[in-house]
Amino acid sequence: MEEMANAPLARFTTLKIGGEAGHLYNPAAVDELLSLFERLSASGEPWHVFGGGSNLLVSSRGVQGSVIRLAQMTEIKSTEADVIEAATGARLPHLARWAAARGLSGLEFAVGIPGTVGGAVVMNAGAHGSCIADVLESATIFDIEKKDLVTWSRDELGFQYRRSRVDPDRHVVVSARFRLTPDRVEAIEAKTKHNEEYRWKTQPLSWPNGGSTFKNPAPDRTAGALLDQAGAKQLREGAAAVSALHANFVINMGGATSGEVVILLKRMQERVLEAFGVRLKPEWRILGAFTREELEVWNGEA
Ligand SMILES: Cc1cc2nc3c(=O)[nH]c(=O)nc-3n(C[C@H](O)[C@H](O)[C@H](O)COP(=O)(O)OP(=O)(O)OC[C@H]3O[C@@H](n4cnc5c(N)ncnc54)[C@H](O)[C@@H]3O)c2cc1C
Repeated sequence: MEEMANAPLARFTTLKIGGEAGHLYNPAAVDELLSLFERLSASGEPWHVFGGGSNLLVSSRGVQGSVIRLAQMTEIKSTEADVIEAATGARLPHLARWAAARGLSGLEFAVGIPGTVGGAVVMNAGAHGSCIADVLESATIFDIEKKDLVTWSRDELGFQYRRSRVDPDRHVVVSARFRLTPDRVEAIEAKTKHNEEYRWKTQPLSWPNGGSTFKNPAPDRTAGALLDQAGAKQLREGAAAVSALHANFVINMGGATSGEVVILLKRMQERVLEAFGVRLKPEWRILGAFTREELEVWNGEA
């Protein structure tokens, strides 16, 4: 298994922000992952998992302990006519195209979401009116306490808007099983292409970014619209800025730190709170060392 000491994590996140982790492991297969957990539990060393790093703000001060990157377990296979099984590290855009090419509909929404299957299950990733919960049948999870692989059905995964019951400190998604709907390849590919093109028009994809920063406070009230109306598009903190194209996207203009980003998020929250009395909650997850004051942005106490 590939491993690296003092690994610079910025390289592995879409925001291109993050200090060093004591150790970075890149398991490429389930047996490598399981023996890694055996080793880490014997040594008592703290560990954290992540996938594509596309919904993650990693502290510029770094991360203590070991970080396990699950982006290299990428196998996708079709086990029944309308069922696809994907390993945790398979990228959603690739999975969406893989399904489309085989005449299986349901994952067209995922083509522009640059995360992995594991991260998408944890976050119940979604777009264009669909989400993972609509197509997922079950997920295989390594349960840290039981030290065993377990299968959770869609109901057991407890999906809600951008969340699930999967707690990355205790459950590691190893693979997922999707039940899709057969349709004409041309129709699925046209929908996939449309969704992809829409992204390029509406999101600042040529800048390092972390996708939507805040969750929508209600289905008919998007964080992007509230931020835009509150004038957040002009906000900037050091090298971190709110995108002029999409007010719920923060971009790294080159060398931004997690500290700058958190101050910017706080200012975005304040704008919307002042204008609409709504407290936005971050969609992003965090990893590494953050101060108590910084954490308040996540706890809604800032
Ligand atoms: C340009 C852009 C567009 C985006 N558009 C969308 C969108 O339309 N809809 C949407 O929902 N999201 C969107 N996102 C956010 C992101 O891509 C999704 O949330 C994605 O599902 C995260 O997957 P990841 O592998 O990158 O997760 P990471 O960012 O690596 O991790 C996210 C969380 O999941 C945990 N985790 C990751 N893998 C596992 C695993 N195997 N087992 C247990 N825990 C795990 C991590 O510990 C962390 O807490 C976008 C992001 C970008 C950069």
